Amino acid sequence: MLKKIETPIPIMKPYLPPKEAFMKYADSIWETRHLTHGGPLVKKFSNLLSEYLKVAHTVVFANGHLALDCALKALGIKDGEAITTPYTYISTSNALSMNGLKPVYCDIKEEDCSIDENKIEALITEKTKVIVPVHVYGFPCKYKKIQEIADKYNLKVVYDAAHAFGVEVEGRGIGSLGNASMFSFHATKVFHTVEGGAVTTEDDSLEEKLIAAKNFGMINADDATTISFNAKMTEIHAAMGLANLEIVDWEILQRKQIIERYIENLKNINGIRLFHWDKKDVKYNYSYFPIILEEKVLDKNRDFIAEILATKYNIFTRRYFYPILSDMSCYKKTHNSNQTPIAKHISDQVLMMPLFVEMTPSQIDYVCDAIKEILNG
Ligand SMILES: *Cc1c(COP(=O)(O)O)cnc(C)c1O
Repeated sequence: MLKKIETPIPIMKPYLPPKEAFMKYADSIWETRHLTHGGPLVKKFSNLLSEYLKVAHTVVFANGHLALDCALKALGIKDGEAITTPYTYISTSNALSMNGLKPVYCDIKEEDCSIDENKIEALITEKTKVIVPVHVYGFPCKYKKIQEIADKYNLKVVYDAAHAFGVEVEGRGIGSLGNASMFSFHATKVFHTVEGGAVTTEDDSLEEKLIAAKNFGMINADDATTISFNAKMTEIHAAMGLANLEIVDWEILQRKQIIERYIENLKNINGIRLFHWDKKDVKYNYSYFPIILEEKVLDKNRDFIAEILATKYNIFTRRYFYPILSDMSCYKKTHNSNQTPIAKHISDQVLMMPLFVEMTPSQIDYVCDAIKEILNG
């Protein structure tokens, strides 16, 4: 029997840059008195992000959710249907709904939890305006097939890349795909600005529209062409982003080593399915470490295992994503979760393991030993 660890192991823990690194950027605000409205720090941050993410344009926002909403507004996508998945955070569907787009749920793939590109076409109607795939856990969607379908039916593609900061596929920045991509810089994400987000695009005509969309739709001091809200990122948040950008590669490397240790510990356990982390054409960001506790094989279910991990071992995990959106009260009336059986099934079996930059090898081993003990008990 393992002894209950004294200090709880949390599901995650935000990482902060050295105070001096943050102050180095924030200091200038006292001189410039430029606090918001695309000041020098936001400009510098946006440019460095474009470089880091290997994209043509980056516009930063107050958070990821409003960034996604503004991407739709800037592209003029509203009133109709959007093909997306129910296996994501509620933000994705809410942004669609709030722009008059009914989310039409496509099922996902067991392999990586992203949209099943082979099931999209059957869901297209004359009302379909856009496909909104999610790079779940930072695993890239099959973008070529998705683009092919979009081109064939003249649809837009907007990616929810909230999980995918820094991910590359075939040497391309993941934010360069489709018409636009949304990143979240929330405190719980791989890269953060406390709260924040961005839209990236290769479309030269989109940048100004995105900037207008985060400023009430105002295109200049005297006119607005679309009706929008305030979603600007402040200079203080940009300072945090600039300081974090200096260490993000190191952070991703720490996460990689943690995940490698998890895999080493948990591979070849009957009833635990791990995801693939070894695709040659993908540069991962190691944002999350989800495992699938296979119902068919195990005599204990996911919720029981999570409960015992918390109460007996002081280890905190998360059902991410559970439930799927079509089982949430606000979408239940209009959607049927049985139409996406794989999403539903995965959501009943998935468990997110603790993962944070400062996690120690002995903490990782303790988590894995606890799981093994529960499964064998
Ligand atoms: C975090 C997240 C969002 C929302 O981002 P915020 O910055 O918190 O507004 C949207 N979609 C997914 C998949 C997310 O994980």
